[in-house]
Amino acid sequence: MAEADVNINELTEYSSDEEGTTTQTNTSAAKKAEPAKKADDSYVAIHSSGFREFLLKPELVRAIADCGFEHPSEVQNECIPQAILGTDIICQARSGMGKTAVFVLAVLQQLVPVEGQTSCLVLCHTRELAYQICHEFDRFKKYLPGVKTQVFYGGVPLQDNKDALKKEVPHIVIGTPGRVHQLADEKILDISKLKYFILDECDRLLESLTMRKDVQKILRFTPHDKQVGMFSATLSEEIRPICKKFMHNPLEIYINDGSKLTLHGLKQYYVKLTEKEKNRKLVDLLDALEFNQVVIFVKSVNRAAELNKILNECQFPAITIHRGMKQEERINQYKKFKEFKSRIIVATDLFGRGIDVERVNVVINYDMSDASDAYLHRVGRAGRFGTKGLAISFIASEEDGTVLNDVQSKFVVSIPELPDEIDASTFMQS
Ligand code: AMP
Repeated sequence: MAEADVNINELTEYSSDEEGTTTQTNTSAAKKAEPAKKADDSYVAIHSSGFREFLLKPELVRAIADCGFEHPSEVQNECIPQAILGTDIICQARSGMGKTAVFVLAVLQQLVPVEGQTSCLVLCHTRELAYQICHEFDRFKKYLPGVKTQVFYGGVPLQDNKDALKKEVPHIVIGTPGRVHQLADEKILDISKLKYFILDECDRLLESLTMRKDVQKILRFTPHDKQVGMFSATLSEEIRPICKKFMHNPLEIYINDGSKLTLHGLKQYYVKLTEKEKNRKLVDLLDALEFNQVVIFVKSVNRAAELNKILNECQFPAITIHRGMKQEERINQYKKFKEFKSRIIVATDLFGRGIDVERVNVVINYDMSDASDAYLHRVGRAGRFGTKGLAISFIASEEDGTVLNDVQSKFVVSIPELPDEIDASTFMQS
């Protein structure tokens, strides 16, 4: 949800000199390339013969094999060869198609750990996503024990971060803008030698006025000469020039634009009902549907807590995650769900972007999202990396209907009414 209209003029021109630094001349950056427009994407690129083609470090190749990745996805094929050459990249691709591995591998491939120096900063919009990205770095740097990572976000005492940084300066920092800015501003975190700067879910980071300001302030602590990478499933025509202001001649890679953004394996339906019919319908669906894991989205913290209570009273072992919880509890709930210790989670939009839980195959919009992009991110929690999934949206008001129509026209997808019976094989992995 955009907190304010983006005003390009409010943005700092990245190329202008700030605080006495010189204008960057990124010699390794490729000239602006034609956007890589594809007719369609595929989960496994047709001509890819594996990650070996990228000539990555043997330590990375081993870790990739340990993760069970056999073939690069389209977005990985398009971006990794360029990203490992130091090129600035702005990239849009469907959610769940492996964008995280693009920047994680590109950074680990290039990074030469220098003691006491932070070389890479990854910013994202939620604490859980920061935690998840840190975990991805840790997975892929398994055979690079010299590389150290740390994650910083609000909701935990600043002193904890101070202590951690005193003990060890991480080469890679992942964090949310508010806390990272605070750490940099108080000179607790030194990012003056940064070489890689990544914005995941960049449109979300730059559309929100508060986060954008923090991102801009953070940038002032970094040197001009660094590689910048920006990633999202949704990069509107309006946000692209804003992203590019932070970059130098970026390579623009739009694997899926507009109509190609919905997921192949995802079945989408709507149910028209009144507000008071929602609980009954939800319980009926949870009883009737076969699912591995399900995310139920609601529009507010209170509704998340209340719906979770109702489901528990109805003997559904649901958990919940929202901003009203203590940070430690939030991460615990995230872990519980990620580790398959719980199969039903009631969530606010906090969980709507970036969060990757492999077994989620059903998403229910108990409350319809307030915009089409948010819908796309939410339903993208199911059907990740080409797996099957099901998304059901409750339409209880005229506004809900408008969003549903926007989704259908923007992403050129037809979302029918939920039939009485759905063949489970359409959304369950065989
Ligand atoms: P992401 O879009 O980065 O959140 O990735 C979605 C999911 O796909 C994650 O669980 C990744 O571990 C997985 N994934 C990413 N790339 C590959 C690949 N090349 N082969 C198999 N799984 C992958």
